[in-house]
Amino acid sequence: MTKQIYSVSNLEKYYQKQHVLHDITFSIDEGEVVVLLGPSGSGKSTLIRTLNGLEPYQSGVLKFKGQEIQPDEKGWRKLRQQIGMVFQSYDLFPNLTVMENILLGPTKVQKQPRDIAQAEAKRLLEVVGLSEYANVYPRQLSGGQKQRIAIIRALALKPELMLFDEVTASLDPEMVRGVLNIISRLAKQDKMTMIVVTHEMNFAKRIADRVLFLENGELLETTAGTQFFENPQTDRAKEFLESMD
Ligand code: ADP
Ligand code: MG
Repeated sequence: MTKQIYSVSNLEKYYQKQHVLHDITFSIDEGEVVVLLGPSGSGKSTLIRTLNGLEPYQSGVLKFKGQEIQPDEKGWRKLRQQIGMVFQSYDLFPNLTVMENILLGPTKVQKQPRDIAQAEAKRLLEVVGLSEYANVYPRQLSGGQKQRIAIIRALALKPELMLFDEVTASLDPEMVRGVLNIISRLAKQDKMTMIVVTHEMNFAKRIADRVLFLENGELLETTAGTQFFENPQTDRAKEFLESMD
């Protein structure tokens, strides 16, 4: 039986008077890859951030594994241990080595024994081909390498859901592929449940089980990936796809 990981019902969000998310309802099952698409300014980042308690919202019900999330500091703190998030900007701690960056969450927040956390960190570094970089500082890494570290730092917490918001948007073109390959591998091989915002349409096509299409804060489509790219339901999604060619 498929297990629901996250569900959102009738979510409404304003920035002051601006209504940025209108009656958003969707859910994501275990192992599913949902790609969130839409024009710039449509509310993708706001939605992703709201799921992780980084943005307050005005109404709606959010559930994690069937349990309603209490939108207070304690509720979000607990949730963020189970949800990994990687943004466009690299948010590694500059004064810590790569290894220390990866170990911080597992040892300080989750109180994992250091040797176990370290073994897992080493394994993850190997997976992303950065084993030799364990003891360097973030400034010594390229943008693509930093994003790969940011991804495995999130994975070290063994999240049940990963949120990716335009993780390749500030990378030089030659760095993009390495980062996308890691996410593809997580999706296909590790069956990680994830919500991905991306401008890389070929990548989106490859990984999307389902596409959510957002425009002006409204969810216009929730469509199977294959169908969305071949035959989108709405004219707005059609225009969007044409504009991305
Ligand atoms: P996307 O990620 O799809 O480009 P965003 O979620 O960043 O869209 O933005 C949606 C809308 O909300 C835009 O009109 C944007 O200007 C506005 N917005 C985003 N963040 C803030 C904020 N912190 N304060 C006020 N308005 C914001
Ligand atoms: Mg955004």
